[in-house]
Amino acid sequence: KHRLWQSLRGKSNTTLDGRSIRLYANIGGLDDISAALQNDAGGIGLFRSEFLYLQNDHMPTEEEQFRAYREAAEKLAGKPVIIRTMDIGADKQIDYFHLPKEENPALGYRAIRICLSEPELFRTQLRALYRAGVYGDLSIMFPMITSPEEIRHIQKQAELARQELRQQEIPFREHMETGIMIETPAAAVISDILAPMVDFFSIGTNDLTQYALAIDRQNPSLEAFYQPHHEAVLRLIHQVIRNAHKAGIWAGICGELGADPALTERFLRMGVDELSVSPAQILPIREKIRSMDLRQ
Ligand code: PEP
Ligand code: MG
Repeated sequence: KHRLWQSLRGKSNTTLDGRSIRLYANIGGLDDISAALQNDAGGIGLFRSEFLYLQNDHMPTEEEQFRAYREAAEKLAGKPVIIRTMDIGADKQIDYFHLPKEENPALGYRAIRICLSEPELFRTQLRALYRAGVYGDLSIMFPMITSPEEIRHIQKQAELARQELRQQEIPFREHMETGIMIETPAAAVISDILAPMVDFFSIGTNDLTQYALAIDRQNPSLEAFYQPHHEAVLRLIHQVIRNAHKAGIWAGICGELGADPALTERFLRMGVDELSVSPAQILPIREKIRSMDLRQ
């Protein structure tokens, strides 16, 4: 199998009847980039920026973040890199940032909720991202979105960040594509309202499953109940893709489910535009796609 997969490097992700999708890699740090490239990723579909916060004893400075994002952009040499803003809180705790103890961390103070409550911290990351945008094809993606108000607040902070850079005459990219993760049932259900506000959707099936089925994804004793193939999850995904296309934007899947070969055909039939999977799963999914005929 390994040899077969290696022979698929450089080949397209096209079905027998000619439908192509993009296959990107999920990465958790700069060290994963070489694996992504070795496995022929078309780009990075989910760059989890948390590593900068988790592997540090202090809040990463703008400069530290800028250097990391620029390195990613340069290593991808023009291929797209979608960087997700920090998704800390819940299972990802950091000692130096004193997050409150919570009864229900998965439903708590995390990700974009922290960013919108701490706008300075958020703008530090946004400034680093807009600056790094000069060095490659970078996009920004926001986690844990539930409402259009959040997107408006994000846009305001992004505009402020650009304004600051402009005033300080620091080079940055004026227009960067911005997208949101669809990983709450609320966002999926109102994806028709959210789609015209952003450039793309990326469906986070790990959290979408957790929240749709009310199953803690961290709790091993619930494993038997954590069913990402549940029809409710699949219908939400389909609805999100349809609403994206109605608004003329693309929709991808970056949760683990995107790498499940048992669902690849179903996702393609739903019209998914991109699958972002761990580097080792790119070539196996490519093999799957190339053997499929959607006319049947
Ligand atoms: C997801 O929720 O599906 C996702 C891709 O994000 P994470 O696993 O980092 O929460
Ligand atoms: Mg998530």
